[in-house]
Amino acid sequence: MNYTKFFSKMSLLRQPSPIRSLAPLLKLPGMISLAGGLPNPLSFPFESCTFNLKDGSQISLDKAAMSIALQYSPSEGIADLYEVLKSHQIEKHSLVDRQDWNIIITSGSQDALTKAFEMLLDPGEDAVLVENPTYTGALAALHPLQPEMIEVPIDANGIIPEELERVITEYKGAKKIKFLYTIPTGQNPSGASLTVDRKKKILEIAEKFDFLVLEDDPYFYLNLVEKENINDKTDSDVTMLSMDGSGRVLRFDSLSKVLSSGIRIGWCTGPSPLIQRIHLHQQANSLHTSGLSQGVTAALLNEWGQDGLTQHVAKVQELYRKQRDMFVKSVEKHLKGYVEYSVPTAGMFLWMKLIGVEDSKSFIEEKAREKKVLMVPGQAFQPNDKPGPYVRASFSVEGQENMDLACERLAELLKENRKN
Ligand code: PMP
Repeated sequence: MNYTKFFSKMSLLRQPSPIRSLAPLLKLPGMISLAGGLPNPLSFPFESCTFNLKDGSQISLDKAAMSIALQYSPSEGIADLYEVLKSHQIEKHSLVDRQDWNIIITSGSQDALTKAFEMLLDPGEDAVLVENPTYTGALAALHPLQPEMIEVPIDANGIIPEELERVITEYKGAKKIKFLYTIPTGQNPSGASLTVDRKKKILEIAEKFDFLVLEDDPYFYLNLVEKENINDKTDSDVTMLSMDGSGRVLRFDSLSKVLSSGIRIGWCTGPSPLIQRIHLHQQANSLHTSGLSQGVTAALLNEWGQDGLTQHVAKVQELYRKQRDMFVKSVEKHLKGYVEYSVPTAGMFLWMKLIGVEDSKSFIEEKAREKKVLMVPGQAFQPNDKPGPYVRASFSVEGQENMDLACERLAELLKENRKN
């Protein structure tokens, strides 16, 4: 596939950094390099570090690992982490026979997303397909690029393929539709998860109308469907990346919801020509993701192995399943008849329609805040900023008592609202 038609003018102007391009030559036997601008490590005060894990074990970065973590490193990621994540992707997304694909490690998936948007969009000149509603952080990165946002309707199973095809054929604008931005698992904010059948159909539509698919999947590891066997595959485990037969899918992964959000580790996977452009951007931007964050993540993942990670993920899923069930219990107890919602099978959000409320933004900002209960008004997730009756509630951190109290407060407000 020729990707040039998808690239923005800015991305096409990106050139390899002359200094970063020398990095592979440093490995040649006998090479004496006076080329790099590497600071002298004798100036670094750090020697080694040890992290105490909650299970009582320890992860250490010895002198050698520290010297890599503390120094400038390749823009795609430090070798240890790059290799672990690449193998992980091969296994999780059936890439063993795939040609010409690559990954790049970024500072969370948000970093990769904004780079991908800049790679593909010329300000004001392109159109994109976005779920309605969708993630505010993606909208924040898209807005300055001024794409025409074609809204794609979703239900509890995510994008409705027939609706996707309808909005494309009804689009009469002259701008090229560059990509579909989708959050396939535990969608933020709706909690929706795509079925495998829908993913297949979406990919067929992408081929028919020749656009790319940006699969932003930070809740992939927060799949709450109970499995008999830890390695069983559910619909959310079968990704669009794994089904991509024509090199259209650029996938975004994140460790934010399973290891730490502050550690800022994400990675982007897809056809090499696309990853290469993001790489050029990274060379000119942050240079690379924090070496310390990458170092400790590599040490942990190497210590755990794939099985250890799977077991950790299973525990995280168990935690979130409990959180979700507690919240649904509170909602059922206090808000029955006042809200409509679907129970999410992944992620950390419940998307509720407040019955009888036309504009949830003023309702939340004027009334709920005063009553000391906060939720995000649905308008924040509207690609074209339209008001509506929805709110996003997160069930990730509060305990049953506070969940109950929050739902009780919201119920009181909705009762008052109904009276008026
Ligand atoms: N995409 C979506 C859909 C998200 O919900 C988030 C986090 N809220 C991100 C991307 C960013 O995640 P990260 O911490 O990996 O940058």
